[in-house]
Amino acid sequence: MNWASRMNMIPPYLFFELDRIVDQQRQLGHDVINLGIGDPDMPTPIKVVEAMQEAVTKNANHRYPHYLGSMEFRQSIARWYAKRFGVTVDAATEVVALIGSKEGIAHLIWAFAEVGDVVLVPDPAYPVYYTQTLLAGAEPYYVPLLEERGFLPDLSSIPDSVLKRAKMLWINYPNNPTGAIASRDFLKEAVAFAGDHDLLLCSDAAYVEMGLDGYRAPSVLEIDGAKEVAIEFYSLSKPFNMTGWRIGAAVGNPLAIKALGTLKSNLDSGPFTAVQDAAITGLASEPEKFFEAMNHMYETRRNIVVNGLTAMGIQSPRPQATFYLWFRTPHNMSSAEAARFFVEQAHVAVTPGAAYGPHGEGWLRISLTTPEIRLSEAMHRMKEALKSIE
Ligand SMILES: *Cc1c(COP(=O)(O)O)cnc(C)c1O
Repeated sequence: MNWASRMNMIPPYLFFELDRIVDQQRQLGHDVINLGIGDPDMPTPIKVVEAMQEAVTKNANHRYPHYLGSMEFRQSIARWYAKRFGVTVDAATEVVALIGSKEGIAHLIWAFAEVGDVVLVPDPAYPVYYTQTLLAGAEPYYVPLLEERGFLPDLSSIPDSVLKRAKMLWINYPNNPTGAIASRDFLKEAVAFAGDHDLLLCSDAAYVEMGLDGYRAPSVLEIDGAKEVAIEFYSLSKPFNMTGWRIGAAVGNPLAIKALGTLKSNLDSGPFTAVQDAAITGLASEPEKFFEAMNHMYETRRNIVVNGLTAMGIQSPRPQATFYLWFRTPHNMSSAEAARFFVEQAHVAVTPGAAYGPHGEGWLRISLTTPEIRLSEAMHRMKEALKSIE
């Protein structure tokens, strides 16, 4: 028996070797601090949990959900976009509920990209854009995110021959893995570029609520004319500590929403309605205060890591958003070598940057989803390990 040959296009899982070493170190009895995973450690707001407890008892919620999401849920997303971004969207035609935004990101690529098409993918980036493009039979084209450009893509560097075949442009700000942010000017440039080259601009806004030091990230839909070319992915996962619940939404261009909804109605039956009900409660609960407290917590954690890295002689950009730190490997190690070094010598797991694309080589990512005391301990151990090789 053979699986489909397209399965062989899925790039090797670069965390696999690291996972193996982490397991090995744990089996040897070492207390490994895992700073690799970007998954909030704090609980979901109690109001959301209580809304879920009630919603799960309702008989109507035990039946198939509405394919596109309940009208109440879609309206609550539309209300949030109005309140948070000053953006008007029609709940019926410009919003679709997602079983987490990852699901929508993957399926949108299937709905738009085919053999012969190019998908413009940032490098480094969340791996789903690249892998799903390959699976859909289309061609990913990496647009580098360089430190000297603030990790924003140089759209003018994309050759005309590529642009001719390009169908989608992916952007993700605030950015995973670099922690970079995009100005409104950049978003304007991206909207204009998409219009000029007949591209669907796909904005992954998973971290849009995770601004630090008072920074508030914009939605691409705030830009005039954005709805003609852009779709945005909003997720409750990171801001509400709800990664396990699987709830998000796609918002924006009605044609893209329609294509995604049509594909999804033939694939899945939408998120559990009780989860949608709980999400409505979360969005209606004036969550701004909750976000603010959470972002303060991430600021404190970020400062521990930035100071810790500085004490090791490693300069890192101080991110103004997300819960990631992106920094160069010490002693010119490759990212895999450095990740291996820290897990073996410090019992601290960090993510090798090369897992996010070729331009991630030479970089590492630390996630701040670990309590302060453990982060401090990790910084101490990493410093000691580096001392031992000086
Ligand atoms: C976490 C993450 C997502 C996916 O989040 P969901 O839980 O599927 O909503 C999407 N994009 C990026 C960049 C992420 O880091």
